[in-house]
Amino acid sequence: MRIASYKRTKEIVDKYNFVIKKNFGQNFLIDGHVLDKIINSAEISKNDVVIEIGPGVGSLTEELLNYAHKVYAIEIDKSLIPILEDNLKNFDNLEIINQDVLKVDINSIINQFPDKDIKVVANLPYYITTPIIMGFLEGKLGVKSMTVMVQKEVANRMKAKPGTKDYGALTLAINYYGRPYLAANVPRNCFLPRPNIDSAVVRIDIYKCPPVLSADDKLMFELIRMVFNQRRKTLLNAIYNQGGFGFTKEKISEIINAAGFSPEVRGEKFSLEDFAMLGNCFTNAINI
Ligand code: SAM
Repeated sequence: MRIASYKRTKEIVDKYNFVIKKNFGQNFLIDGHVLDKIINSAEISKNDVVIEIGPGVGSLTEELLNYAHKVYAIEIDKSLIPILEDNLKNFDNLEIINQDVLKVDINSIINQFPDKDIKVVANLPYYITTPIIMGFLEGKLGVKSMTVMVQKEVANRMKAKPGTKDYGALTLAINYYGRPYLAANVPRNCFLPRPNIDSAVVRIDIYKCPPVLSADDKLMFELIRMVFNQRRKTLLNAIYNQGGFGFTKEKISEIINAAGFSPEVRGEKFSLEDFAMLGNCFTNAINI
């Protein structure tokens, strides 16, 4: 029987007297169908090196090890390490790293495998979902795809359309770096312990080149942050109120006009292309 079942997971927790830690976002996957959906949508083969974040008691790890060339499992909780070593001792393609994923030098792993595809697969701890995903995307590490279990609400934000309530800075950031697909909706009863929210599996195929031309990514994302921090304000006021890159209100208005937009519209409906265009006009104005 696979670890991703109520019976095996409960047996492991009891056998090692393991205390489940809420503060580490420990909700273990106990549903084999969901596990199959993750594995199928990640399309893991022997040409892949997988980085798994938070292996827990090893339910996903066990399956990944069957398909991948090698799995790096990064787990913050040191009391899970002997459990993983014991339960997965029959595999010779596993490397366990007992560290906070945000502090691991991912490049040093990736650089060892120039001929392999690097894929991230994880049932992510809810409390740091966004920093983990954005760390991998912004790091431009050469990861091919990320197949991750996230809160349903985060999945909705990743896939949101302009003008909807879920559309925002996260939508734009994810879609700048990659293309997100919803692979599965996952009800809360698929985990032990049961969380009080539903989840979803999302696969993000990471672009080699971004889909829009932005002269200065940092500036474009600063602009996006300004707009969604004050999403009910006009474009002009939102930018001006938050520093306006040091320009006067008149100059900001002129730059917005030069980009082909009205300073009086709200930026919350702007597409990624619109933000890239506007960002490039600010970059030009700064560089003059
Ligand atoms: N993969 C397992 C599963 O599907 O059953 C466990 C998933 S559980 C939602 C999240 C896991 O991430 C836990 O094992 C937790 O200890 C680990 N974790 C939490 N914060 C972490 C961090 N900063 N770095 C690495 N692992 C972390």
